[in-house]
Amino acid sequence: MTKTIAPKLLHWYAQHRRSFPFRDAPTPYAVWVSEVMAQQTRMETVLPYFQRWMERFPTVESLAAASQQEVLNQWEGLGYYSRGRNLHKAAQLVMTEYGGALPQDFEALQSLPGIGRYTAGAIASIAFGQDHPVVDGNVKRVYARLFAVDTPINTPAGEKEIWALAEAQLPTGQAGDYNQALMDLGAMVCLPRQPDCPSCPLQADCLAYQLNLTDEFPHKKQAKKAPHYTVTAAVIEAADGSVLITQRPQDALLGGLWEFPGGKREDGESLKACLEREILEELGVKIEAGEKLGVFRHAYTHFKVTLHAYRSEWLSGEMVLNEHQAFRWVQIDALDDFPMGKIDRSISRQLQGKEPADGA
Ligand code: SF4
Repeated sequence: MTKTIAPKLLHWYAQHRRSFPFRDAPTPYAVWVSEVMAQQTRMETVLPYFQRWMERFPTVESLAAASQQEVLNQWEGLGYYSRGRNLHKAAQLVMTEYGGALPQDFEALQSLPGIGRYTAGAIASIAFGQDHPVVDGNVKRVYARLFAVDTPINTPAGEKEIWALAEAQLPTGQAGDYNQALMDLGAMVCLPRQPDCPSCPLQADCLAYQLNLTDEFPHKKQAKKAPHYTVTAAVIEAADGSVLITQRPQDALLGGLWEFPGGKREDGESLKACLEREILEELGVKIEAGEKLGVFRHAYTHFKVTLHAYRSEWLSGEMVLNEHQAFRWVQIDALDDFPMGKIDRSISRQLQGKEPADGA
């Protein structure tokens, strides 16, 4: 396959490249952090997080020395929390195994927690000048249109086909700029809906454009409808005004984050009965669910949740941790010190009077 794209794309990139702090000073650590943050997340969202992160953890060493709670506090709101936990674990490994410098060897990079083929390719090409391609959502879309790829891009076969195209088109010695140019083209010109083909430097090479089928590509296999769960949570208050929060297990969704305990409703169960059962099962404590605090909704990648929160009274029992890794009684003003997912942060802010109740 001839490499027809690179010269035009690199020429376009020289004039239109987006300016980011991690691009203007692309240290391996900055490229690593920015690429991990940018997975599944828009760059406008990433930028303030990246800046705060680099102020708090300016080096691999400072990240490795931080507690997981500090790391998750900085990550709060970015979602996909395993990314933050893995960055932290990988920083500790970089300190112990590699003397504080990210390894340049591609296999060694991929052996670090949270660094897969995409992130390793980005670090190797952008920070170390090595010839490795990258394929993310934007890049997949651009290649699928350029080459009118029939295979759905969200299948293993489609992924493989796009990676092969990315390998074949990679210009020797310029992979870093080429990869970033593709990302920028996908983010600025070859948009998911209504690509700006008149401004595209690759129009003459683009099969989808020539076939007048830009709306048809990329092909995607229809995702299954996300299930919807109804869950409950308890705000249990002590006599001194503190409230009970529990820390989720490390390897669960939102692992290491804090929450108001509760759980999923079973078929035919009332909301209050669900909450009282869940707290007994998880914490060994008998409670009585009382006044409703609010209804909170959130869509995760693979499911949706509607959560009903209740002020609850501790009736009897000794606390045990059947599912969580820790618990704390925390004054309401101090809840901000504990990293939480979106719904629990909303409950917390409502308790602090910073957010109105919704649908109580
Ligand atoms: S011509 Fe249009 S569809 Fe093709 S790569 Fe450019 S912006 Fe995307």
